[in-house]
Amino acid sequence: MKAKRHFSLGFVLLTPLIASILILALTAKNYYDSVNRDISSEYERITDSLERATKVITALDYSFTNSYQSKTPLLLEHNSRVIDDELCQMWPIDVLLLAEGKNLSIPAVDIDYMLVGDKSLCLAGSPLYERASSQVSLAPVLSFLHDLDDYLYGVHYIDRESYVMSSPETIAESITKELLSTLKARPYWQITATNKEKITVSGPAKMFLLDQPIITMTMPVFGRGEHQGMLSLDVDADMLLDSGSALPSDIRLIQTKVTPIPSDAVRIVPLQMDGVVFHHVLYYELDMLKEVKNFFVFEKYSIATIIIIYVLSVVILFYVNSHVEKRYLKELAEKDPMTGLLNRRGMEIFLKNTTLGDYIALAVLDIDDFKKVNDTYGHDVGDAVICYMADKIESNIRQTDAVARFGGEEFVLYLRGQDKDRMCETIERVKTAISVQSHEAVEGGFTVSVGVEVVATDQEHDFDTLFKAADEKLYQAKTTGKNKVVF
Ligand code: GH3
Ligand code: MG
Ligand code: MG
Repeated sequence: MKAKRHFSLGFVLLTPLIASILILALTAKNYYDSVNRDISSEYERITDSLERATKVITALDYSFTNSYQSKTPLLLEHNSRVIDDELCQMWPIDVLLLAEGKNLSIPAVDIDYMLVGDKSLCLAGSPLYERASSQVSLAPVLSFLHDLDDYLYGVHYIDRESYVMSSPETIAESITKELLSTLKARPYWQITATNKEKITVSGPAKMFLLDQPIITMTMPVFGRGEHQGMLSLDVDADMLLDSGSALPSDIRLIQTKVTPIPSDAVRIVPLQMDGVVFHHVLYYELDMLKEVKNFFVFEKYSIATIIIIYVLSVVILFYVNSHVEKRYLKELAEKDPMTGLLNRRGMEIFLKNTTLGDYIALAVLDIDDFKKVNDTYGHDVGDAVICYMADKIESNIRQTDAVARFGGEEFVLYLRGQDKDRMCETIERVKTAISVQSHEAVEGGFTVSVGVEVVATDQEHDFDTLFKAADEKLYQAKTTGKNKVVF
């Protein structure tokens, strides 16, 4: 019997599971690739932003370096006040650019800056006042550049003579006399001064009174061969690093001189830009829990599909299994396992379901002296003879006829047709076909005896009666010399 009885339970459960795991692995790989792509595009955005910031500070530096040539009376158009009798604050009169009669070709930008310095800054004609006058024309540019990008938290010019020009105004307002006097003592003042043509980057760190971490880009301003002051650009690190992308973990930027790279850092990329002194790296702070959670949220439909496919596959395999099992049991019940022919029960079922011709012929075939074959050549040769005979009968009858093995070396052949004589000829032909080449199956060959009962279908023809009659004729054949057909 060729049909395998059924798949093992392990096969039914494991095969879809392995397939599902493979699909899940592919889904995870796609997800992993997309996260990596997102990280790359975020890195690109961050470095682009930092590059823009370097352009801002470089442009400002150029302007400040060249500002020592001209003096403008612009300070006259500023509000000023002295605080605590020690600090001077100056800010533009709101109508500075848009007052009636002023230059209408200047666009309506929000000018937001403040100068903070020693109280002598407020004193017209004082050296500090004169000094600030030479630079104040750059203040609107400072303000404009600060407005350029959201992540630019503040832009400042810190003069060596203790005044600060700062945008936005809010940062300048929080500068105290004490802070002003300590600014130059801070290490980055010195470091910046020594990197003359370069931008020095410090932070991210919480500076002054600010809550958010700030990355500071500084560049010294030299005029008339002297160190005049320092430009400082504050970049809001949180805003720079987090654009609201769908990445589950955070991108971090650290100064490796100050902060060691943590163990959960992946995709570590050192920052490098022309004209910038960086000791910084970008990295992705891999949080596996967040990544896994995000994977399941992001791929929920794929995962649900995989689960459905798994369950369906198991159900289908179970169904196929029971179907195969049923077919196997059916075959077992209706077929002879050795020859694949019908057994007695199979033959009876076949007869019940078949249409009839005018005549039915039932032939019982039995090998002559089969015991001798078994005794002489052994049981295996005997089996081979039985199988040979089954093949011979099957290949000499029509599709609509049926043959069954009724046990031992006894076969039953069922034919139907319109012509009684032709049916008898067929039986003779089958008998001859078996014996003519029988030496192929066993040395010396063998013969068969056949008993045949033919009835018209309009006569009584139940199977048992037909079989009994044919079997009696077989007996006649056996007792009258064998190797013959008795009709
Ligand atoms: P006869 O000419 O009268 O038919 O003589 P015989 O020896 O063929 O006698 P019979 O038909 O009664 O013999 C049946 C023998 O077939 C008995 C048994 O040993 C053998 N036999 C029955 N089933 C199998 C089988 O599946 N395989 C083999 N090798 N032998 C079988
Ligand atoms: Mg026999
Ligand atoms: Mg027999």
